[in-house]
Amino acid sequence: IDPIHVIGGGLAGCEAAWQVARAGVPVILHEMRPQRPTEAHKTDALAELVCSNSFRSDEASTNAVGILHREMRAMNSLIMACADANQVPAGGALAVDRDGFAAAVTHALASDRTISIRREEVFELPPETWDNVIIATGPLTSPALAKTIGALTGESELAFFDAIAPIVHFDSIDMEKAWFQSRYDKAGPGGTGADYINCPLDRDQYEAFIDALIEGEKIAFKDFEKTPYFDGCLPIEVMAERGRETLRHGPMKPVGLTNPHDPTVKAYAVVQLRQDNALGTLYNMVGFQTKLTYGAQLSAFRTIPGLERAEFARLGGLHRNTFLNSPKVLDARLRLKADPRLRFAGQITGCEGYVESAAIGLIAGRMAAAERLGAILPPLPATTAIGALINHITGGHIETIDAGPRSFQPMNVNFGLFPPMDFSPKAPDGKKLRGPEKAIAKKRAMSARADAELKGWLGAA
Ligand code: FAD
Repeated sequence: IDPIHVIGGGLAGCEAAWQVARAGVPVILHEMRPQRPTEAHKTDALAELVCSNSFRSDEASTNAVGILHREMRAMNSLIMACADANQVPAGGALAVDRDGFAAAVTHALASDRTISIRREEVFELPPETWDNVIIATGPLTSPALAKTIGALTGESELAFFDAIAPIVHFDSIDMEKAWFQSRYDKAGPGGTGADYINCPLDRDQYEAFIDALIEGEKIAFKDFEKTPYFDGCLPIEVMAERGRETLRHGPMKPVGLTNPHDPTVKAYAVVQLRQDNALGTLYNMVGFQTKLTYGAQLSAFRTIPGLERAEFARLGGLHRNTFLNSPKVLDARLRLKADPRLRFAGQITGCEGYVESAAIGLIAGRMAAAERLGAILPPLPATTAIGALINHITGGHIETIDAGPRSFQPMNVNFGLFPPMDFSPKAPDGKKLRGPEKAIAKKRAMSARADAELKGWLGAA
């Protein structure tokens, strides 16, 4: 059997190589370290964790990343097995001894006779003889390879920084205060004229909000990140620092909108949220990319009328991060539409985090191996955590006309990516559940659905 080439020996590439080898298909894994370092990795170990040593919550009944852990374990994940074997105490989280973890992954791959590891950078488009390739070079993909990928996809489809606006779960927005309307009721292609959720601020609320942005604690850029500000995506706190009125003339301008809850009062400023996924469960705060700390974001954003109880699927950020505009350039099997022998995995596809990257590596490895063996892996149900992530990457995101050059941004797994459930849970006494109890019951039901559907898929796959 001809080998599958995996480029990048990080979280995704190692998991992909392992899965390919488990299917009995030979693998050549190309990792550029230590020959060429990245700005964040410090060792030559495979699957090095570049920052925190946490794989986040291991609780699978009410936590989306816990569901991902469960699914990966059920699919014989190397990354999860090595994490479990190198666990350190961390309450309900799965945290690992980073050196022990990376050494275990490196040892497992190096001692597998189906896998050859080549310590070399891949600079260019892989030769034609590499007919089944997984590219998993991560957020710090080497510049030469990034240039090659950019040439294949078109430069505007490969980003080097993310510009992350916070995302809110729709069902946590108070629609007694907020309302649906597009500015001047304008309906773009596919729009209705009521595509945005608007949250109104009066003058005092606006001034206090500007103070919170200016005074809030910020995260510094790392040395290698420089200061990646570009037109159209300045952090909101930088806009606020440039002038107290800047936001009111920018993303918070109150024009073309009438508050149906009180049409006589004109808002002094408005925060707009735009639908973020095709399911309609998530909304992003338009123009609100930020380097404020998560704590400062939560306290500032929950002063906005309508968002007092907002639950965030993702808070804002701005980082060095090489990633594709995947919904546009990848097919449902994670292959580049422009050159389908190239499949992508890991953070470069637009997922975020160690676990998510490894999960996409896992499924990419299985897809590539199935293809090599003349089969097609049946698609994972979107109700599973891995299926929901793939759906986010390849199809679930919607581009809106005024979203700027690209609006697809990396995301951790979260319940907003799962198809909603028609659900009105009852307590044992027959009363309808409400508030946090209802939210927990809903998560439990989604977790049980994911479990059942994954088992069904594994039986069929
Ligand atoms: P990586 O794990 O980065 O693996 C990519 C591999 O490809 C690397 O080993 C690299 O050397 C290699 N490579 C690159 N280019 C080439 C080439 N041309 N040829 C051959 N090999 C190549 N996530 C979290 O969950 N928690 C955190 O705390 C966290 N902190 C982060 C801090 C920083 C500074 C960065 C940049 C990212 C952080 N992330 C964090 C995100 C994290 O990096 C990713 O989630 C995860 O490592 C991505 O996995 P990956 O396999 O896609 O990429």
